[in-house]
Amino acid sequence: MITLGLDIGSVAAKGVLLTPEAKWQALVPTGWSPRAAGQQLIETLTKEARLERSGIDAIVATGYGRISIPEADKAITEITCHAKGLSSLLPQVRTIIDIGGQDSKVMRLNDGGRVIDFAMNDKCAAGTGRFLQVMAQVLGMDVSDLSDAEDPEATVSINSMCTVFAESEIIGHLAQGKSRGGLIAGLHESVAKRVAAMAARIGVVGPVAFTGGVAKNRGIRRALEAELKVPLLCPEDCQFTGALGAALLARSLGQ
Ligand code: ADP
Repeated sequence: MITLGLDIGSVAAKGVLLTPEAKWQALVPTGWSPRAAGQQLIETLTKEARLERSGIDAIVATGYGRISIPEADKAITEITCHAKGLSSLLPQVRTIIDIGGQDSKVMRLNDGGRVIDFAMNDKCAAGTGRFLQVMAQVLGMDVSDLSDAEDPEATVSINSMCTVFAESEIIGHLAQGKSRGGLIAGLHESVAKRVAAMAARIGVVGPVAFTGGVAKNRGIRRALEAELKVPLLCPEDCQFTGALGAALLARSLGQ
């Protein structure tokens, strides 16, 4: 059976195509049109796997743009897809922390990999990838370079929770000559504290996995491990967990 999972996120659209022999994956910026991003992924992945569109047996869409994908046979929530994807990679995990572009979530799983509780922040940019993107821009760098540039020894604590005020705070610190590396470490700490507080509400049970695009940032991982006092497992393709789960869940549709 050949299935496709599409995770149409606020920042990035991810697709995983599963054939009996292979896995193909692709990422495109979501841009202004979730629908166009979905179509681009279908085109790219069918081309790479040398398939016709009709060769795909079932498509599941997830992510904030999941309802905008007419090609999908079913839309399934991110929580369910992330749990499915992660459990297939790391079945021992009991808590998943996922930080994406527009939200952060913590999911607790039972021994069978089913979600038994979750907490989510999708009301405020603080504690999300968007917060880090805005701050990277203020610091004149790309979000992917934050991790290598941080200097935890010189951490400057960032007190503002609100993204707009935190931006002003950073500008003020830069004017006072504070080091960029210290400020980045402070930003990582600020995101980690916020997410750790959310995780504490439902309780963190190990082993714990860290997923989402922000899990690519080793500085956030370091700061979260320090806050939670547990090691975090990061799957290699941490940004594709939801799309993988969607592709796996699609298998039950075509049967
Ligand atoms: P969404 O599903 O909401 O689009 P993702 O899980 O795809 O979110 O994560 C997007 C976020 O991941 C971005 O906002 C950015 O902060 C972060 N990110 C993406 N690529 C990298 C990278 N190479 N290094 C560090 N952070 C990254």
